[in-house]
Amino acid sequence: MNQISDPSGVTNVPIVIAIDGFSSCGKSTLAKALAKKLGFRYIDSGAMYRAVTLYFLQQGLKIEQLQRMPEDELEKLLDRIHITFEINELSGISEVTLNGVNAEKQIRDLRISDLVSPVSAIPAIRHRMVDLQKSYGAKKGIVMDGRDIGTTVFPQAELKLFMTARKEVRAKRRFDELNEKGFMVTVDEVQRNISERDHTDTNRSESPLRQAEDAIILDNSNLNQQEQLDFALNLIDRIMAESTHAS
Ligand code: C5P
Repeated sequence: MNQISDPSGVTNVPIVIAIDGFSSCGKSTLAKALAKKLGFRYIDSGAMYRAVTLYFLQQGLKIEQLQRMPEDELEKLLDRIHITFEINELSGISEVTLNGVNAEKQIRDLRISDLVSPVSAIPAIRHRMVDLQKSYGAKKGIVMDGRDIGTTVFPQAELKLFMTARKEVRAKRRFDELNEKGFMVTVDEVQRNISERDHTDTNRSESPLRQAEDAIILDNSNLNQQEQLDFALNLIDRIMAESTHAS
């Protein structure tokens, strides 16, 4: 059996788990399951960029204005954005709030998905979010998913996973997820959004989406959620056993 599922928790060493990958690869599903199993904190870094995007949209700011804005002005705007995570008591999962208001549903809208990649490519915005993300990991015992977690936010993470899946599998999963949440979208819209975001995320100059050299690839095209969880837990067992030996 997995050492970490041992209810005694004796072997449960707090570590940092970084999960990166392309859009709609099931990163957050795995990250949430891992956090729950290990009793770790889960942080969805994509939700932070989505919340920032929502704020700009609420202020009626266009992407071109943000891209042209002098850095000190942008910094002042960022000072007005307060992002926190709060545990949803029903699901036990942390949800993002924007200036004190739960934004978990609004940030999943396709309007946000269409704007978030160019917004998150702006260096001043990335720097602010990366600093916040680093602060969340100070005490370890965290699972964070995103695009640059293993490369930029937590280059020292004990476990780095890089998730990928076939394009059509990813589009179908995201389409089903959005439908379930009540968003009216077509498969074509979802597919276009995924391709555009992957392109922008991979080609931006500031911390682009890359597989960290020491990341382990997890292609989940043909794996169910339990199989992915088992794959990660086996790796974590080994890491925890090594760190117990070393200490
Ligand atoms: O994870 P999710 O798909 O919700 O992320 C939304 C967008 O936020 C990504 O497409 C990417 O542009 C941006 N993002 C990022 N760096 C991260 C997490 C997300 O640039 N660490």
